[in-house]
Amino acid sequence: MTVPPTKLLVIGIDAASPALLDAWTADGTLPNLAALVARGLVGRTRGIDGFFVGSTWPSMYTGTNPARHGFHYQVQLVSGSYRLEDRARGDFVERDPFWRVLSRAGKRVAVLDVPLTKLETELNGVQVVEWGGHDAFFGYATMPPALALDIEQRFGRHPAGASCDANGRRAHEYLALTASLEEGVARKAEWTVELLARGGWDLFMTVFTESHCAGHQCWHLHDPGHPSHDPAVATITGDALRSVYRSIDAAIGRLVDSAGEAQIVVFAAHGMDTRYGSHFLLRELLCALGVTAPLRVPLRTRLRDALAGLWRALPKAVRSKLSPLRDRVSLNEDTRARGPAIGVDLDRSRCFPLANGLAVGGVRLNLVGREPRGVLEPADAERFCAKLETDLLAIVDCITGEQLVRRVVRTREVYAGERIDALPDILIEWSDAIAHGTTALSDGAAAQVRAQSPRIGVIEGKNDYGRSGEHRSGGWFLAAGPGVRVGRMTREPSVLDLAPTFTRLLGVELPAADGESIEEIVRDPARSEASLSARSSNLPSPGTG
Ligand SMILES: [Zn+2]
Ligand SMILES: [Zn+2]
Repeated sequence: MTVPPTKLLVIGIDAASPALLDAWTADGTLPNLAALVARGLVGRTRGIDGFFVGSTWPSMYTGTNPARHGFHYQVQLVSGSYRLEDRARGDFVERDPFWRVLSRAGKRVAVLDVPLTKLETELNGVQVVEWGGHDAFFGYATMPPALALDIEQRFGRHPAGASCDANGRRAHEYLALTASLEEGVARKAEWTVELLARGGWDLFMTVFTESHCAGHQCWHLHDPGHPSHDPAVATITGDALRSVYRSIDAAIGRLVDSAGEAQIVVFAAHGMDTRYGSHFLLRELLCALGVTAPLRVPLRTRLRDALAGLWRALPKAVRSKLSPLRDRVSLNEDTRARGPAIGVDLDRSRCFPLANGLAVGGVRLNLVGREPRGVLEPADAERFCAKLETDLLAIVDCITGEQLVRRVVRTREVYAGERIDALPDILIEWSDAIAHGTTALSDGAAAQVRAQSPRIGVIEGKNDYGRSGEHRSGGWFLAAGPGVRVGRMTREPSVLDLAPTFTRLLGVELPAADGESIEEIVRDPARSEASLSARSSNLPSPGTG
């Protein structure tokens, strides 16, 4: 019996660096991707301005901007309240993923380990959520349900566990992390290839998220210019990022081999580079600028914080002996039940910080009439935002001499949509001109920031968070297959254009998407000529005009 062909194979390399993908396809490090590049169209994509840490995947798979799907971070403010909720427990994303649209149009789909994706309740095909990898929002689940146990019994689960975060890894621990990521890629390739071989897929989409983990955890092992780069450690570990990318490349080779004549799109929805930003100072900076008021701290809490300071001062060996005791003292049921809190005095704050990832800080205006106990009159909001922007841009890190904040963005000037109230009002883009270190690595080199301006005086802080890589907004793609032109795309489509491109390739429109299908991929020769450049003269001529 002949297996019906797969029409479209989509492979995500989660949060992979576009610059490294280009460099490593050019120098042969990633031979399978290089082979696809040689017969395909390659280019970069624009990302989700201001929300590229949390919103990238939901925007990618719905083709809509965050003001329309309403998701910007795992923990979000519930509109009309001061309550923070875990979005995984609610509607999550309030727009249709493109595979739902395809499924309803009768297309057969496989949607495997796409990050930040909830299990569909109905689907013409199969879905796997969080078999393993970087993000763990919903837990491992599949459609049909029996598939979960089948994969688990025959291939096991991802060996890296639910979270890649750890502080102060030593060389052998990096080796163990890398090995578990590579093993995870190999195992995923096994069960994915098996599903692909069933054939008859209109859409077969899978994502390797090990590049995301390696990017956050191992950037300093890759980049000798990173302040946390320790040659003694890197000599033992090698370039962990390169090893993980290479294992993903090998898995891609296997999938491509099994995909027959399918159209192939490989993409990174957002990127990765050195860690940056002074997120750990955001609340203090807003307080120093007088726009946010600190909580009035009860004596009991002040005592606990003082004890926590003493705790951090203890040697590591002593801490690990005492940690069961510490956990019993500090995490009582009461604290757990209360959940996350905004942590400022809302009756005296004209704005307050909201979690939006480390690269771009989120700030919510405490508006009279919108917030339950609003302080800022809507009529004053414009002037307030302009002043806050001026004050934030005036702050420099006097250790590096760099401006601390690169850009202050008002969400409403960039986005429009019915869920805009779910988003922070102001976005503070930290400068990435200087890579910061962390107290968790390399004796804390470059972990300190000394923020200074006439308005705030001097505020100091240290980054304790152990990651050495952080997201960048732009992405990367390549498309190959019957009819796709060979070359490099000179214009940059948006990451929002991917979903409408995928549905168009299968003859289905994605209604109400903000993105547009990429004509150079869906083969409209008249429009695609102008934005292509052939890579070399022995390739088919792109024609004139
Ligand atoms: Zn990340
Ligand atoms: Zn991870």
